[in-house]
Order: sequence, then structure tokens, then C-alpha cells
Amino acid sequence: MYNPKSLKAEEFIDHQEILDTLAYADENKENVELIDQILNKARERKGLSHREASVLLACEIPEKVQELYKLAEQIKKDFYGNRIVIFAPLYLSNYCVNGCLYCPYHMKNKHIPRKKLTQEEVEKEVIALQDMGHKRLAIETGEDPVNCPIEYVLDCIHTIYSIKHKNGAIRRVNVNIAATTVENYRKLKEAGIGTYILFQETYHKESYEHLHPTGPKSNYCYHTEAMDRAMEGGIDDVGLGVLFGLELYRYEFAGLLMHAEHLEAVHGVGPHTISVPRVKHADDIDPDEFDNGIDDETFLKICACIRVAVPYTGMIMSTRENQKVRERALHLGISQVSGGSRTSVGGYTEEERPHDTEQFDVSDNRTLDEVVKWLMELGYIPSFCTACYREGRTGDRFMSLCKAGQIQNCCHPNALMTLKEYLMDYAAPETKAVGEALIQAELENIPKEKVREICKDHLEKIEQGIRDFRF
Ligand code: SAM
Repeated sequence: MYNPKSLKAEEFIDHQEILDTLAYADENKENVELIDQILNKARERKGLSHREASVLLACEIPEKVQELYKLAEQIKKDFYGNRIVIFAPLYLSNYCVNGCLYCPYHMKNKHIPRKKLTQEEVEKEVIALQDMGHKRLAIETGEDPVNCPIEYVLDCIHTIYSIKHKNGAIRRVNVNIAATTVENYRKLKEAGIGTYILFQETYHKESYEHLHPTGPKSNYCYHTEAMDRAMEGGIDDVGLGVLFGLELYRYEFAGLLMHAEHLEAVHGVGPHTISVPRVKHADDIDPDEFDNGIDDETFLKICACIRVAVPYTGMIMSTRENQKVRERALHLGISQVSGGSRTSVGGYTEEERPHDTEQFDVSDNRTLDEVVKWLMELGYIPSFCTACYREGRTGDRFMSLCKAGQIQNCCHPNALMTLKEYLMDYAAPETKAVGEALIQAELENIPKEKVREICKDHLEKIEQGIRDFRF
């Protein structure tokens, strides 16, 4: 029986409720009166239920889809301004005991070299990332309790935070590791992580079991209930996602929103982020073997529907997507992108992009500097800000500030100050010129005069070599 407050996976992601939602969406996809009502509700910026959002996703009336896109863009502007947060993934280990059919790290893959970074290698990777200008990482591992236990992950987090190379620093480490115990989540929290990210892959239990035939990840309920354990362990910023292409996208979309509703109902705070990965070609993985691949148009519509359904949730798009798709997605709600990514263990210290241990092919191969310049030329402010979590503005504290529109008062100057650091320390001359002009223009958009003056003062101090200011 569907119950968003239940702690049982099959009750908060109730299969029948999803089927009923899809039927309701089909029945109403041409019901203009209802669609208008839903769009009007979305305009109030308080979000939509999974049923309402599913109607928008099913609707194919061109004018209504355009209205949806316009609204998604406007909501994004209202909540996030023109800032885009920048991060990079860091692959620590590709040892894995699972049998995931879509992932090249699966245990049966005997021809990819298995690697796990030593702490010295972690240090080298982090220095390489700092030298690019990164401040925020998402660490990634396969699941292997013997080769990659939680103690190893904790050691790596400690190493990452401790490295101060030139003016570089990693100020926020997000973690994307397999579902684990409350006790381990508590340890991650104590190690000072930002967001705990775990992709559901698919909400469809039968498909999930088929796609994860062996290993600990094959337990659907344990995986689906992971965010509740993470929250119990004290982590209040969690990141959801499904791997689009594995199951029917409309099923996944409803499941994703039901998961968000569940977190809100039980813990009083929704997901901090939602990621939108699509299955990609990888070592022994051919994405065409999965029947549910989606075209770019459908994919972008999903992004827009997520944006209007959960306006307070950050949306992440990785380099799985190419520049063109990323550019359009920025208009429809994406608020975080990765740049200069390498998806292999030890990839950042290699001159050439190594392919042998890559988790998936990267479609956006540009350097971080190229991504930063591209964003600025599109009118966005690339932000390396990590202030909220360092100031304790996480979970419901972040959400309530965000809901009150207050977050804008500090995010904008923080973005400008961290961009200034990037320009001073890492940017190519042309990028620097574009960035300096952008900062001057954007200073005028800080609403409070006092904040503007402090920000100007900090920018001067950054020019003189001082770092790490924040509101
Ligand atoms: N091993 C951890 C787990 O099981 O959740 C998480 C880390 S895994 C390195 C990160 C994510 O990459 C997976 O959750 C999956 O969604 C995604 N991934 C795996 N294979 C992929 C592929 N072929 N194309 C695109 N993304 C893929």
C-alpha cells in the first residue's frame, strides 16, 4: 500500500501507485484545463506532486511544452540566479563485487585493470585538480568491502581535505559510494562530507533485480532505503538520481519524485540534488543493449519537469552529456556541472585521457578553463562556492533559507569571490578578461549596498593574494 511516510522501500515507491500515476498522466495528457492548473500551481514555486508532474511529462501539446520550458527557466533564475556550481568527480577505486549489467566495473569484467589509489596517488590527483582550479569534488568508488572498505574512503577524504598546494584547496567533498550502514554514514558525516549521492539506477524493482543479478547491490530494498539510513547517520544533504535508459523514463520520473516526497515526509527535507545521468558506452557496455534509451528532446523535457516539480533541489549534469545538450539543459534547470572530468582511476595525473579504467565515455572533453569561459560567454557565473555547507547551512537550514529566497543574498557575492580566485590563480588570459568584466557587471546585481561594499573589499584583497572569503 502506497505510503510516503513508510520506511519500507516498496511502500514509499509503491509499484501500483506508479502504474496508476502513469495511467492518470495518459488519461490527462491532452486535458488542457488540468495542464493549465498544474502549470499555474508550478508558478507558485512550491513544487508539484509526482502525479501532477507526470501529467506535464506526458503532455505533448507544443504550446504547453513551451510554457513548461519557459517556466523551468524562470524558476531556475528565481532560485539560483545565473550561477552554475562547478565540480569534478574523483575516482578512487574500481574494485567491485557487484554484477551491474550497465557498468564496466562489474565483477565479471576480467580485462579491465583494477586500480585503487594509494594516499600518495590521491595527493597527486588532488594537486592536479587544484591546479585546474577545482574546489569541490565528488568521490567515486566501486563496491568492495575488502579492497575498498569505509576506512579507506575515510582516509582518502582526510587526505583530500589536508592538501594545500599553492593557493589550492578542496573545500567540499561529496561522496558517491554504494549503499551502506547507518554507522558508516555517521563516519562519513564526521569526516566532513558535503552531499551523499547515490543513484537509484532504476525504481522498477523487477528490472532492478534483473540489472543487478549478483553482489550486495542486488538487494533493492537495502539500496532504496539507503537515504533514510544516511539521514539517520546525520547526513542531511543527500543526492538522488536514476540512470536514464535502463527502464521506461516515465516510470523512473514518477519514482524519483516519490522518493523526494518520501524524504520530505519523513525527514522534513527533500533531496539536496538530483542528478540526471544517461547510460553511456563503456568498456564492455553497449548502451543500445538497453531498450529504454531516450532522445535528447525527451531528456531535456525530463530536466524541465524535475525543475518545476522540485524547485529547491539543485540539478546536476555531468560530462556524460555533450556541450550542446548541456547548453540547452542549463536553460531548463541544471544548476551544477562538472568540468575537465576524467572518469578513470588516476586519470588526472595522466597526460592523455586514459581509457582503460574509465567508467564511461565522456562526451564533453573540454578543459575546466574552456568550460568556465563557455559558461561566462553564455551569461552564467561559474561558481566555486562551498560556503553553505561550511557555514552549517545544510539540510532543512539550507532549504528554509532557499524557500524564503534568502539564499540569494549570499550566493551571488560568494560566486563572484570564488570566480575571482579562479581568475587570479588558474585562468587563461582570455578567460580572465571575460571574467573580470563579468564580475564588474555582476557586482551591481548585489541587492544590499552593504554586502556589495564588503564584496568589493574582499575582491581587492583577493587581488592582493588573500583567499577564502565567504558570506
Ligand atoms: N558504486 C557506487 C554504487 O553502486 O552506487 C557508486 C559509484 S558509480 C562509480 C557512479 C554511477 O555511475 C552509478 O551509480 C551509475 O549510475 C553510473 N554508471 C555506471 N555505469 C554507467 C554507464 N555505462 N554509463 C553512464 N553511467 C554509468
